Amino acid sequence: MDRDKILLTPGPLTTTLRTKLAMLKDWGSWDADFNTVTASVRKSLLDIIHGHDSHVVVPLQGSGTFSVEAAIATLVPHDGHVLVLDNGAYCKRAARISSLMGRRCTVLGFEDSIPVDPAALQQALAKDASITHVVLIHCETSAGVLNPLQAVADVCGAHDKGLIVDAMSSFGAIEIDARKTRFDALIAASGKCLEGVPGMGFVFIRKAVLDACAGRSQSLAMDLYDQYQYLEKTTQWRFTPPTHVVVALHEAIAQFEAEGGQPARLARYTNNYETLIGGMSKLGFKPFLDPAIQAPIIVTFHAPAHPKYDFKSFYAAVRAHGFLLYPGKLTQVETFRVGCIGAIGQSEIEQAVHAVALALTDLGIAVASE
Ligand SMILES: *Cc1c(COP(=O)(O)O)cnc(C)c1O
Repeated sequence: MDRDKILLTPGPLTTTLRTKLAMLKDWGSWDADFNTVTASVRKSLLDIIHGHDSHVVVPLQGSGTFSVEAAIATLVPHDGHVLVLDNGAYCKRAARISSLMGRRCTVLGFEDSIPVDPAALQQALAKDASITHVVLIHCETSAGVLNPLQAVADVCGAHDKGLIVDAMSSFGAIEIDARKTRFDALIAASGKCLEGVPGMGFVFIRKAVLDACAGRSQSLAMDLYDQYQYLEKTTQWRFTPPTHVVVALHEAIAQFEAEGGQPARLARYTNNYETLIGGMSKLGFKPFLDPAIQAPIIVTFHAPAHPKYDFKSFYAAVRAHGFLLYPGKLTQVETFRVGCIGAIGQSEIEQAVHAVALALTDLGIAVASE
């Protein structure tokens, strides 16, 4: 059937028809019409975090990782020292980026099944005064853990350390308020909880640290300070903008606002999450995480302990019923993941659970009955 499959993934994700239709036009990057769209997107993004007084927002071409790399290279001085709070693959990626950018990097490791610990951060900062910046992944998408942003920001604030937050998979769904939470940089992207299409990231930079960022990045294309200056001066992106991605994000944000903003999005995703957990547990699936630390963004399930199970055939069987799952990203246990985000609601999740049940039957894996 020629119908889009529903994406149960943490981005790219299922978007609305209205968002897709916004991409059916050509836009000139010099044209005032397009630059008005860019300005409107930037204003809306600052609205979401109540950040107009404290922060600027700098959009950047590329996937989310491009913006993480750009933020570290623009924010951290060459002789700076980054401490990464590590409880998953995206944390390890941030540490690798820091090292590749030539910054000294220390990793404070935690299990991937628990949030990072602000008390351990406190001790690490007390012990090593050379640390200048802390990197936190807000929602660790590898397992789905929600990390304690406010507590980590408070510790960083008390020690006067810069905090760089990768809020890629939480932004727009979990509350982030720049009036309450101090961070030097916070990174997210178009194709996650704002339900745009992938292709651009954006970084909120605290105004108080902005001037010191001049000339720091060793990259021309990913220098957020230069991108910011150019945008302010000309209203244009510095190099060719992802025009269709920007207009789709503009349309996605209009729908986000009409839905009721972050609280409404969180409520829809929470309902998706609860519907998913309820339905999957009836099929015998157990989530990997304690619900108390689980973000309603993406759920890691233990794979069925059945000789006929392997992820590839399970994926293909669910796909044949119209839904795309996501592989697990844990090294110790066999898992798969199901995203709760995107332009989907309870009925899509109910259908997804039904597709999983059909897939189990297709594969000859018995369905648990309760
Ligand atoms: C999606 C995501 C990213 C960015 O991944 P890209 O594939 O580069 O878009 C970074 N961090 C987290 C926590 C994410 O969920």
